[in-house]
Amino acid sequence: MEIKAIRGFNDILPDEIGKWQFVEKTAREVFEGFGFSEIRIPILEKTELFSRGIGEATDIVEKEMYTFIDRGGHSLTLRPEATASMARAYLEHQLYTFDPVAKLYCIGPMFRYERPQKGRYRQFYQIDAEVFGVENPMVDAEVIVMLIDFLKKVGIEKLELQINSLGCRICRPGYREELKKFLSNKSFQLCEDCQRRLQTNPLRIFDCKVESCQEAIANSPKVIDFICSECQKHFDQVKEYLEAGGLTYLLNPRMVRGLDYYTRTAFEVVSYQLGSQNAVTGGGRYDNLFQEIGGLEIPGIGFAIGMERLVLLLPKDREFVQTLHLFIAALGEGALKEAYRLLNELHLRGIRAEIDYEGKSLKSQMRRADKLKVPYVLILGEKEISRGKAVLRNMETKSQEEIAMGDLLNNLVDKI
Ligand code: ATP
Ligand code: MG
Repeated sequence: MEIKAIRGFNDILPDEIGKWQFVEKTAREVFEGFGFSEIRIPILEKTELFSRGIGEATDIVEKEMYTFIDRGGHSLTLRPEATASMARAYLEHQLYTFDPVAKLYCIGPMFRYERPQKGRYRQFYQIDAEVFGVENPMVDAEVIVMLIDFLKKVGIEKLELQINSLGCRICRPGYREELKKFLSNKSFQLCEDCQRRLQTNPLRIFDCKVESCQEAIANSPKVIDFICSECQKHFDQVKEYLEAGGLTYLLNPRMVRGLDYYTRTAFEVVSYQLGSQNAVTGGGRYDNLFQEIGGLEIPGIGFAIGMERLVLLLPKDREFVQTLHLFIAALGEGALKEAYRLLNELHLRGIRAEIDYEGKSLKSQMRRADKLKVPYVLILGEKEISRGKAVLRNMETKSQEEIAMGDLLNNLVDKI
């Protein structure tokens, strides 16, 4: 039986890869321009990094992780996100001894056991950027300005920046209790998951897609009305710096973000082109994460962009596929050898050229060249070679010209 890929795991094929490479290249350019450095972290980590970092009572840890016991009896997990691993690396290598402020980014696959559908997969890619070591709201605005700049540079429009404040260790527990109180006589309206969430993590109910849960929570108290004065001040400054950075935003009091580690600033960038999976980027501040995983008190803020959803939004009129420059149609054995010699020289000069290895008829070779959308075909026949000539055909204009074999290479390089 033919072996297929696992459900929710995708191949990204050559006709799509140009978009991915463009997005990654733009991310590197923009982020490095903002002073960020790349970090590469393992795909596997100890399970407790995520259960402690992300939080036991989150969707990710409760039901989405790919966890297994390895041959040594250790519980390992395929990373469901990158922030916890980046924080671990920062602590493990004591990057703070070099400079307390670290601006890092990372691009790679994440794994979550979710129900696959458009824009939601079990292996998906994220572009992640994080700043460790700064509590100042200036940096909250700085990463958001960077994010929006990046999204604009890849050509994405119809985006909306939504922000909220989730409070901190001091004020959030009070809000949690308020929310619990508010929902306690509506619990019959909640789905099974949310009845449990009401006890373990009531803020998670905001993220539930079940309609009756959304109705139950419609007129709930807002976290923003319960945050302490320190958090309020921080949030006001974030807004001020966003405006100073030329950005507009929408306050979304219902956005709570799915991970426990978020404190204060939370943000999402949504697009109105994607249907229900409309979040392309989620991010926020997490001033408790480091303590959860290592004991040090280090603030952090960052975001994760979902690559699949971003690629879906790229402008349709842009050409991302790299086509060949030249096809060499060789006719006869001697011509094929000459074509092979030429092909190597062209490749060494960075010209994307292709030949037909089978010695097929001219008609069949031209058909292949057509399909490959090459702009030029070089026709090499035994007769032409013996006269020291080759024919170059412009596939668009259909015009042909003879060029001397002597300076064929330079001639081609000039043309292409
Ligand atoms: P959602 O509400 O869509 O489940 P999330 O809050 O779980 O998103 P984050 O953990 O914040 O998502 O991840 C950041 C981004 O990663 C999301 O905005 C989305 O673009 C992308 N993403 C998350 N989960 C998936 C998935 N299973 N498949 C594809 N992309 C995903
Ligand atoms: Mg999710």
